Amino acid sequence: MEWTPPSEIVPLLPPCLFISNLVPLSGSSSVHYGTKMASHIVGYPRMGPKRELKFALESFWDKKSSAEDLKKVAADLRSSIWKQMSAVGIKYIPSNTFSYYDQVLDATSMLGAVPPRYGWSGGEIGFDTYFSMARGNASVPAMEMTKWSDTNYHFIVPELGPDVKFSYASHKAVDEFKEAKALGVNTVPVLIGPVSYLLLSKPAKGVEKTFSLLSLLPKILPVYKEVISELKAAGASWIQFDEPTLVMDLDSHQLGAFTTAYADLESTLSGLNVLIETYFADLTPEAYKTLTGLKGVTAYGLDLVRGTQTIELVKKDFPKGKHLFAGVVDGRNIWANDLASSLSTLQALEAVVGKDNLVVSTSCSLLHTAVDLVNETKLDDEIKSWLAFAAQKVVEVNALAKALAGQKDEAFFSSNAAAQASRKSSPRVTNEAVQKAAAALKGSDHRRATNVSARLDAQQKKLSLPILPTTTIGSFPQTVELRKVRREFKANKVSEDDYVKAMKEEIKKVVDLQEELDIDVLVHGEPERNDMVEYFGEQLSGFAFTVNGWVQSYGSRCVKPPIIYGDVSRPKPMTVFWSSAAQSMTKRPMKGMLTGPVTILNWSFVRNDQPRFETCYQIALAIKDEVEDLEKASINVIQIDEAALREGLPLRKSKHAFYLKWAVHSFRITNCGVKDTTQIHTHMCYSNFNDIIHSIIDMDADVITIENSRSDEKLLSVFREGVKYGAGIGPGVYDIHSPRIPSTEEIADRINKMLAVLETKILWVNPDCGLKTRKYDEVKPALNNMVAAVKQLRAKLGSAK
Ligand code: GLN
Ligand code: ZN
Repeated sequence: MEWTPPSEIVPLLPPCLFISNLVPLSGSSSVHYGTKMASHIVGYPRMGPKRELKFALESFWDKKSSAEDLKKVAADLRSSIWKQMSAVGIKYIPSNTFSYYDQVLDATSMLGAVPPRYGWSGGEIGFDTYFSMARGNASVPAMEMTKWSDTNYHFIVPELGPDVKFSYASHKAVDEFKEAKALGVNTVPVLIGPVSYLLLSKPAKGVEKTFSLLSLLPKILPVYKEVISELKAAGASWIQFDEPTLVMDLDSHQLGAFTTAYADLESTLSGLNVLIETYFADLTPEAYKTLTGLKGVTAYGLDLVRGTQTIELVKKDFPKGKHLFAGVVDGRNIWANDLASSLSTLQALEAVVGKDNLVVSTSCSLLHTAVDLVNETKLDDEIKSWLAFAAQKVVEVNALAKALAGQKDEAFFSSNAAAQASRKSSPRVTNEAVQKAAAALKGSDHRRATNVSARLDAQQKKLSLPILPTTTIGSFPQTVELRKVRREFKANKVSEDDYVKAMKEEIKKVVDLQEELDIDVLVHGEPERNDMVEYFGEQLSGFAFTVNGWVQSYGSRCVKPPIIYGDVSRPKPMTVFWSSAAQSMTKRPMKGMLTGPVTILNWSFVRNDQPRFETCYQIALAIKDEVEDLEKASINVIQIDEAALREGLPLRKSKHAFYLKWAVHSFRITNCGVKDTTQIHTHMCYSNFNDIIHSIIDMDADVITIENSRSDEKLLSVFREGVKYGAGIGPGVYDIHSPRIPSTEEIADRINKMLAVLETKILWVNPDCGLKTRKYDEVKPALNNMVAAVKQLRAKLGSAK
């Protein structure tokens, strides 16, 4: 999602203030320094309650502060987190879950697996090498980044091959354990497990794609042994290995690697309690069997929020004497736990695994939720009572552990029960008309009546576009002044009239520029939008917004997802005013610009009291209203962005079909009611859609624009392999993520490659994505070259405009 500059630079708080920030909580009297109940936290956000780490990192990268300054901020954050958990009463407190950039990159550093291009020559890995791998430097690009399972967190992908020489090159895990110990906190050091590390890596450049990454196990385990031995020597009594890949679709060879790895580590691990932590989905019966059969392992961490079937596996067969770390507090969401319901789940599990073997935990690291509700000054008390961010989840875990041990904090439980009840019955949550309309959608199908080729003919009659029509994806550069006007309008420092005037001026500028460039289908430039989800969420009912509810996306970058708490509806048109104003400035077709329901859903914190698809259908109905209002206002081309459709794909293949069915259905609902002559576009920001191409075709859009230029072979190969695509398609002709200006020849060359596999009459020409992060002096020449390339080709194809 879009990065927005902080409205204020937040001064760094001394650690003692963090503590007072975090404890106590309403209804809780829990500050315990005495006996600790069986409670565990898988991991904790690193950024700090007000993104202190982000600002410290960026200031260091900009050379405005020293490495020492950065280290100090980091140490203060770690210490405040450890002390906070300890003060709450958590027994098993993690260490080494802090990271300056990413925990997988930390593991790469620990193993000395630095790709040769970074010129590292051995020794302890310092900031220079570390941040070069993370972000690139003047001469070398960064390592690749990819999504951490199905979260919005991105990790740095290890690049491995047969020649990598592993060595123990970062003592971070041991150093942080000692650091916590010196503060009086005995922590559970956390390492990425060796098998997941390899399964998450990729063959380095030049290494055969078929290279077996798991064949490197015997090479990395010696480094793991060194680390384990040092942790033991430093006084650790527990160790946690995160093995999130155990919940994926694994074959027997991959599952066997777990067995081999832990058998090899067994003697080094002896004397330690060993926790294997899994999260984000159910375990298959085979994976569960592998996990519970691992040698030397004493405890299993299971995600019981998403792993509802895993609970059944536990109930059927749990090894005697082992510990179950039951992840009942959701680390992926911001909702207060239903404590009564969790307690009954825990009690049932206790009967199976035995009283002394059950530990209350979070479903996964709290990295994926917001940090602290205390800093939310703009949410009202009712909504706040329904929420729990990381700091509050720590308290919930402890409260459950205490209750299990017979020391239930009645006041805390009853205020929680009251909040749960208020959420269930609140008129702000339920809107019967919306519920009914959404329910009526289930089971039925929604499609435009006419097929796409007939529609395209009808649209061409109306729009008379030249061949290879040109367009852009929506946003134009967002200047500092533009952001300022928007911010000041929000803060009531600029009147509505002045705001509208400023926006219209901006739109006029963008429209004139596009006419000058001779682009065929215009956009208004989205100057009124800060973010493609927030803009709509703020105008829909059922959404709430936080001030500090940031979640790390990668490195120092954070996103602030809206919270969908109630039934979604659209009180009034959201974009018609701006689109009509823009259309009135030109004779060329002006594209209406909307964010699609699946993307709004996937980039928000969603309700946990109804299935995701129900929420999605509700959003789809709201967007449908908007589409129809745009059509009534004579907007004949409407783009509905589904940038995040693919990222909602469930982890397990067995669940893909169901998701794709309702996601694609939701998209179709938004535009099933428009006339044949209204042209529906959609846009996607990724190109690896080969596996879901049939779902994309099934979206039945008239035109799709799609990211392509960073990986054109990948995208076009689908069509080379014979997939028929009859609708309009605009694979991006240049990369908007880079400031580089593509030449006319280069763009023409790209289009020619597309023409080799796609019919001329369906091809559109456009950049990869929106232009808002670029500058005008990059955008103008780039678009100018794009149009020039198209004109050359049209002349060649013999039908110039
Ligand atoms: N219309 C949006 C824009 O141009 C699309 C952004 C996106 O795909 N992420 O900014
Ligand atoms: Zn995009």
